[in-house]
Amino acid sequence: MAEFEGRQTYFRPEVSPPDGPSPLGRRGYGSCTFCHSSDTVWQHDLNASLCRFRTMFGKGKVWSTSHKVCDRCEHLYNASEYAALARLQTTNPPSYDDELADHLIGLAAFCRADRGPRELEQPDFPPGFEPWEEYTGADFVFGVWPEERRAVVDGVELVASPWPSLDLTAVFRVLWTWAERDKPDEVTATLMIARVAEVLAWPETNALSWLAEQR
Ligand SMILES: [Zn+2]
Repeated sequence: MAEFEGRQTYFRPEVSPPDGPSPLGRRGYGSCTFCHSSDTVWQHDLNASLCRFRTMFGKGKVWSTSHKVCDRCEHLYNASEYAALARLQTTNPPSYDDELADHLIGLAAFCRADRGPRELEQPDFPPGFEPWEEYTGADFVFGVWPEERRAVVDGVELVASPWPSLDLTAVFRVLWTWAERDKPDEVTATLMIARVAEVLAWPETNALSWLAEQR
């Protein structure tokens, strides 16, 4: 027991992260897996065959294979401060009795599957341009984005807001609330693409007044 310091010692295999720079974005984009900070510095790739785990009550969960982490959480993770990390993930008050325990179980699975950290590159994108993948998984958006407001830098597809007074978070809110304004399950993929393309051609005043109606 001499080595016990009041921390969990989850199994972390000896691993080396994938070679080369991370293909996924840059520092300061996306959000930290543990605390949701947008000040991301590290990427952890997980071994896909080890991503599944079960919660306290046997509910099956699966980690995605790529995670961004802020410097604070990276430090906690490397110091085996799993309880502190689990607390950062837990809503206050917890959304159910065993939420903290479930985050600890998830962290044990994360450690087991982790292929190790890679430092994210500094962004070298033109001002206002960001990877669309930081905002949505809908890969059609780049194709319908206004040509003068999209770019590809080092193989990363970037988009900028078509409307000066709205940031990309607000832009995507406009896109999805308009595209799914009636029953979302009745919106086909084709209709969705057409509607998003339609919104992106709006003048700024239309976008602003639609957004105002959504509040
Ligand atoms: Zn964090």
